[in-house]
Amino acid sequence: MRKKVIAGNWKMNKTPVEVITFMRSFVELMKNKKTENEIVLCVPYIDVIITQQFLEETNVKVGVQNVHFAESGAYTGEISPRMLDGIGVEYVIIGHSERRQYFNETDESVNKKLKAALAHNLKPIVCVGESLDQRTAGVTKEFVTSQVRKAFEGLSAEDAEKTIIAYEPIWAIGTGKTASKEDANEVCKWIRGEINTLFGNVSENIIIQYGGSVKAANAAELFNMPDIDGGLVGGASLDPEEFFKIVNFDA
Ligand code: PEP
Repeated sequence: MRKKVIAGNWKMNKTPVEVITFMRSFVELMKNKKTENEIVLCVPYIDVIITQQFLEETNVKVGVQNVHFAESGAYTGEISPRMLDGIGVEYVIIGHSERRQYFNETDESVNKKLKAALAHNLKPIVCVGESLDQRTAGVTKEFVTSQVRKAFEGLSAEDAEKTIIAYEPIWAIGTGKTASKEDANEVCKWIRGEINTLFGNVSENIIIQYGGSVKAANAAELFNMPDIDGGLVGGASLDPEEFFKIVNFDA
């Protein structure tokens, strides 16, 4: 039985002072709640330390939203997997559609980052998903298959199993338009089938999330689908009460 993994993605939001305000409510709510679900908050780099300090009292894990593929070197402004490992970050989002769209991330850079993250024992969350034009043209499955194949190229089955995939249709991200639970499950199931073709039985253990305008009102119907193993949550993770409700959805 796969566990559910629910990760918040704060994107470029919250100063450390704003983190304190969030955490005062969120930690209080989480302290009295035992959940089997794995809960993660992927925060901006500058918020990592303060977030870790607050979350120590809970079982919520800390992640970030990007990583470079090199160990160190002349890459001004970048953060390496070794540096993240060094401060106890556990999770890292790789290939979010906003990074692909605004920062020229490619399937090739996603593959390099994924390998580097795994080599430093970070838990990667690799994002894939189609645009509205691709969905309308009926090429969602082909496109997502190609993204998955390129991201996972050269990985062992053991490393593939450690990698979380977030299926995030681009048209659903930050738009308030959520994929129907049937459509979301269909693509997550398709991705699981592709992992099976590439790596065999580990496909039954790999975590495949849905992301795209998840909120407290729709989390349960999405996360209770058989091939959806939790979610990647953007906007709704910024509010402590809303995120608390999402991570404690009615199973
Ligand atoms: C995301 O940032 O990955 C995301 C899915 O955003 P939102 O929940 O706001 O659509």
